[in-house]
Amino acid sequence: MTTDAKRPQDELGPPEEVSHDRREFLKKCAAAAPVLLATVCMAEGVAASDGDASYKPEDHYFGMGIDVKKCIGCGRCADACKTENGVSRDPFYFRTWVERYVITTDGETVVTSPNGGIDGFPSTVSEKGIMRTFFVPKLCNHCANPPCVQVCPVGATFITRDGVVLVDKDYCIGCRYCIQACPYGARFLNPVTHTAEKCTFCYHRVVQGKVPACVEVCPTGARIFGDVRARSSPLARFERFNEVQVLKPQLNTAPKVYYANLDGEVR
Ligand code: SF4
Ligand code: SF4
Repeated sequence: MTTDAKRPQDELGPPEEVSHDRREFLKKCAAAAPVLLATVCMAEGVAASDGDASYKPEDHYFGMGIDVKKCIGCGRCADACKTENGVSRDPFYFRTWVERYVITTDGETVVTSPNGGIDGFPSTVSEKGIMRTFFVPKLCNHCANPPCVQVCPVGATFITRDGVVLVDKDYCIGCRYCIQACPYGARFLNPVTHTAEKCTFCYHRVVQGKVPACVEVCPTGARIFGDVRARSSPLARFERFNEVQVLKPQLNTAPKVYYANLDGEVR
């Protein structure tokens, strides 16, 4: 398999040393932080007043559904994410991106994601012939058992009570452990703040009762957002009416991004 996608893990570098005392102290601080919505909002740079005052994190447990058959590879989701979250366009980094898979008649799988799919995909000309092609949007899977959280030496990466994995920029020391630990290439180092960055499910929108920007702009409804546990939520319906799969289930990270119509070639 080959890919020219600009993956976050391309930014890997040597981790820095962290003092043991500081680790323990900050771990304790971070353990307390996720229970407070206001603190979580601050971690994401969202004023507490931006959130719905009646919002209760404990009443939710969020996930996303992606129907691969519905994705047309327009890249509007990746573009909207950059605009909504101020993600760097120069150089290009992605909180979400779209990959095109091309399976050739001789069995080769070619994966590309030029500019994360924002500018579309060049027409595919292959001497070998194309058996099938499809698009797969990717993002942080907001794993319920996230290795990125486990390895963070200062507790800057944490899970909220509503099941969203976030990074507290004020605690993050930019050691890159989490970037190396994420098996989905979902994280990168912000080139300006030098702290770890990734998809937040647009947490600042979610606490206001909105859906993430990528979900809102998708013209085909390929992305679905909602509560994993609430029977009536769009996501729960999506899971009921589709045979869903997660990426790399063998790693036991318990992803909460669920794919329908996922081809066996996707990894
Ligand atoms: Fe962490 Fe990667 Fe899972 Fe996101 S996809 S929660 S960054 S391990
Ligand atoms: Fe696919 Fe929807 Fe993203 Fe377009 S906006 S690339 S259809 S997921």
